[in-house]
Amino acid sequence: MARIALGGIQHETNVFAPYKAEYPVFVQRDEWPPLSRGTQMLDNVRGVNLPVTGALERLQALGHEIVPLLWCSATPSAHVSEEAFERISAMMLETLRDSPPVDGVLLDLHGAMVCAHVADGDGELLRRIRQAVGDATPVVACLDLHANISDEMVAQASVLEVYRTYPHVDMADTGARAADHLDLLLKHNLARYPSCAIRRTDFLIPPVWGCTLVDPAKSVYARLSELIQKKVSGMSLSCGFPLSDVSEAGPALVAYGFDEVSVNAAADSLLAEIEGRESEFCGRLYNAEEAVKEAIRLSANANGPVILADSQDNPGGGGPGDTTEILQTLVSHEAQGAVAGVISDPAAAQSAHAAGINAIVNISLGGKSGFPGSLPYIAEYRVLGLSDGCFRANGPMLAGAEIDLGPTALLEVSGVRVIVGSKPVQTMDQSMFSHLGVDPSKQKIIAIKSSIHFRNDFEKILQTVLPVTAPGPVIVDLATVPFQDARLKRLACKN
Ligand SMILES: [Zn+2]
Repeated sequence: MARIALGGIQHETNVFAPYKAEYPVFVQRDEWPPLSRGTQMLDNVRGVNLPVTGALERLQALGHEIVPLLWCSATPSAHVSEEAFERISAMMLETLRDSPPVDGVLLDLHGAMVCAHVADGDGELLRRIRQAVGDATPVVACLDLHANISDEMVAQASVLEVYRTYPHVDMADTGARAADHLDLLLKHNLARYPSCAIRRTDFLIPPVWGCTLVDPAKSVYARLSELIQKKVSGMSLSCGFPLSDVSEAGPALVAYGFDEVSVNAAADSLLAEIEGRESEFCGRLYNAEEAVKEAIRLSANANGPVILADSQDNPGGGGPGDTTEILQTLVSHEAQGAVAGVISDPAAAQSAHAAGINAIVNISLGGKSGFPGSLPYIAEYRVLGLSDGCFRANGPMLAGAEIDLGPTALLEVSGVRVIVGSKPVQTMDQSMFSHLGVDPSKQKIIAIKSSIHFRNDFEKILQTVLPVTAPGPVIVDLATVPFQDARLKRLACKN
C-alpha cells in the first residue's frame, strides 16, 4: 500500500473570451462540483465522470491510501487571474506539506490553462508539485483531449494521460488509466518510465473538426489504442486548444515505456497516422442565415431534430453563452416550434421569475458581454416555464452529475422557444432542456450552445448537425483568429 496525494484544477483558457476566471468561479458549483478540500473533496467527486473520480476509485481498489489535496474547475474563459491561481496552488501545496510524506501524486488537470502572470499554468503547477515531492516520487497527471502539452509538463510529470474521446465520455476512465500507471511505477520502484517520446504536428486541428465519433479523429484514436501493446506502457494524443494562443498549443503525443526503440516506433507511427489525415480535419460551416434556411428545409422530413451548433458562443470553449443571432434568425425565418438554449442571462431569468408563468414580459435578452456583433434581443416574451435550475444530468458525459444553472426559464417569442439560465454552462445534456418540460427528441430544430459535447447525449436522437459561425469568441475558422504567437499565426494560415 502506498500513500497517494490526489487533487486537481481544471481550466481551459481562451484568451479571446470576454471574461477572466477569478477565484469565485472556481468556488461555485456549475456542471461540476465546487472547490473543495480534504474529505469534502472525496465526497464531492464521488460518482461523477471526472478523472479525479476514476483515479480515486482505482487507487482505493488497488489498496492505496489517499491524501486528498483540493479539486476545482471553472467554465472555460479568458486568463485565470493571478489571485485565483496563486490561492489554489498555495492551498494544494500547503496540504501536501502538512501531510505525512507521500509515495506518489496524481493530478487531474486540463492542460490548456493560461494565467494572467504565467503562460503555462499546468506546467507551473506541476513544477511546484515536483519541487515539493522531489525527483524520486512519481507524479502522474490526467489531461483533457484539448490540452496544449508543453515541454515543461512532459519534464515535470512522470506520465501524462489524456482523454481519448471528444465528447469527453472517458474522463473517469482516464483517471483510472493514470492510477494504473502510478501503481505500475510504484511496483517497479520507479519515478518515471525509462523511455519517453514526444511528437508534435506542424498543423493545428480546429476543435470543431475533432469529434471522435466520426473520422478522421475516430480512426486516429483507434490507431492509438492498437499501438499500445506490451512494450509501450502508455501513449496519449492531445489535439490541443489553439485559442490559448501559446507557442506550444496544438496537437502533441507522448509515449512511455521500458523499451526506447518500441516507444519511439509507436510515437512515429501515430504521428504518421495523424499527418496522413491532415487534410481531413475540415468541413462545411454555415452562417446563421444559411443554417436556419437549411434546418427548415431538412426538418420538413422530420427524422429527429436538426441541431444548429452555436460553436462560437460555446461556454465550453470560453463563450459567454449569451449571443442571440441564431435565435433572432430563427424568429425572422418563422421557424415555428424551434427551440434555442441555453442562453445565459441571470437578469432575464430573474425578470421571468418575477413575472410568473404565462406572463408576457419585455426582456432585453443576452448580448451583455460586449462581444463585437453581439447585441441583446429586445422583445415581448411569454413565460412558459420556470425552474431553480438544479437537476441531475442523465447523459453519458455528465453521468448523474448535479447541475446548478441558477434560476432558469422557458420563454417563447413569435413561436420560437428559448431556455434562459443564470450561468454560462455548455448545453451538453438533454436534461438542460427537459428540466423545463422540453423533450429534445420531439423537436424539429434545436439551436444549442455547444460545439461537439452535446453529441454525447443528443447523437442518438438527432438527424443532422450544422456548425454555425454566429458571433462569439470560440472562433472556429482558425485562419481568422488574431493570434499573437508567431508559430500559431503560421500554422493557422495552413488551415
Ligand atoms: Zn476538451
